[in-house]
Amino acid sequence: MTLKLFNTLTREKEEFKPITEGEVKFYSCGQTIYDDLHIGNARAYVAWDTLTRYLRWKGYNVRHVQNITDVGHLTDDGDQGEDKVEKRAKEMGLEPMELVEDQIERYFEDTKALNIKRQDIVPRATGHINEMIEYVQKIIDNGYAYEVDGNLYFDVEKFAEDYPYGEMANKDIEQLKDEAESRVEEDEKKKNQYDFALWLNSEGSGHLMEWTAKFEINSEIVESTGYPGWHLECSVMGQKYLGDEFDIHAGGKDHIFPHHPNERAQCFAATGEGQARYWLHNEFIQVEGEKMSKSEGNFYTVRELLNEYSGDAIRLHLVSSHYRSETSFSHEGLEKAEKELGKARRMVQKVGVPETDNTEEEIKEQFEEFMDDDLNTAKAKQYLMETVSDLNSVREDDEEVSPAAANTVIQLFQILGVDITPNTSESEAEMADLLMEIRDEAREEEDWETSDYIRDQLQNLGFEVEDTDEGSKWLK
Ligand code: AMP
Ligand code: ZN
Repeated sequence: MTLKLFNTLTREKEEFKPITEGEVKFYSCGQTIYDDLHIGNARAYVAWDTLTRYLRWKGYNVRHVQNITDVGHLTDDGDQGEDKVEKRAKEMGLEPMELVEDQIERYFEDTKALNIKRQDIVPRATGHINEMIEYVQKIIDNGYAYEVDGNLYFDVEKFAEDYPYGEMANKDIEQLKDEAESRVEEDEKKKNQYDFALWLNSEGSGHLMEWTAKFEINSEIVESTGYPGWHLECSVMGQKYLGDEFDIHAGGKDHIFPHHPNERAQCFAATGEGQARYWLHNEFIQVEGEKMSKSEGNFYTVRELLNEYSGDAIRLHLVSSHYRSETSFSHEGLEKAEKELGKARRMVQKVGVPETDNTEEEIKEQFEEFMDDDLNTAKAKQYLMETVSDLNSVREDDEEVSPAAANTVIQLFQILGVDITPNTSESEAEMADLLMEIRDEAREEEDWETSDYIRDQLQNLGFEVEDTDEGSKWLK
């Protein structure tokens, strides 16, 4: 079965064919590290983690790179405004790298709680300044950059004579020019307003993060102390770790313009290759049907949600929608996800974690069909939940659930990043089973005091007790 992915470059679902058979080289744009992970960021990273897990399950050898931006991302469009990291650090009275150290630790804690596997390489922009300076030099040498007052700009007009530029945003060059002129405050240093910075001179600006670069332009050396433009890092780190041409590049739909076209343009300008073949973009998440924003008061960090919900439930809620749909994130959805998790865990608990490597082909095939369709986790997850219900009703009819079927469901949930194996030890489970028997006897004798006492004590230990037609059931 073949995977199809929606490629923004062609606006079509295309059959995925890696450059080298059996190998996938994948880059996704990562976090600008000045604030805690919010649920919108999480949606993007969950989608790319799920893609990686799925590709591996299909037998590909995957190298996944996702960067951390710790310099160069400015607050405004068009190379204006302050560096986001530096601005926040100043507000907090910290060195930018002090803020970054702290935020990186929090970022890994939060992503881990959502079962986002740490990518194979997590490069940081500040660790690649030398490479970025060398890269700018290549763009200068190839004739696609110009210098004004120590700033280096990418010459979009010149570039567009030789390479495609607006295709990702599906716009022609004149349209992009008009839009840039109306979008940003005029920058007199630029030849055209749609040009973008490769390097910005920061001398005398009090900028805390700056490096001295030497560029050779028309046989003269220009020294400039400054910092890289935001788009540069992904061109450089992507090609450094994955090769000039690689398979997949992903990011949020806000990157359809300008971030990704500019990254791609730099790659063409420096190396003659447009970097990735498949460009994937996730749609933005809405919260309770509204755009998420701090001013609307509907802004959620993963950290605060984890106080109320389990990481598995948050992840399950996120994969319950397709990555290209404008899904609504809600408390109702999270509660539903907790219940679904409970159902799935109860099934496994009843069957016991199967001691088998056997799997059921039919379940796998159906799952794969949904996932092959541009990673439709919404349908795949719905199908798995239906299978859980089927297995649960089998056991209610007192028949044996096939361990292979249960095993398959556990494995497939893992591709979605959701762990449905109950987190109880054997002795804990035995104790809970025994207490359930005692409780059922007490209930038969209408001894509500004892029955409630057992339930309350178990709840204190983190067990949920449910009364069903067939007696008491527990779940941890
Ligand atoms: P930022 O922190 O704004 O640089 O965003 C980091 C990543 O999260 C980018 O890939 C964004 O496209 C993505 N992102 C930001 N907000 C949302 C949202 N509401 N829904 C989905 N993805 C988002
Ligand atoms: Zn990027």
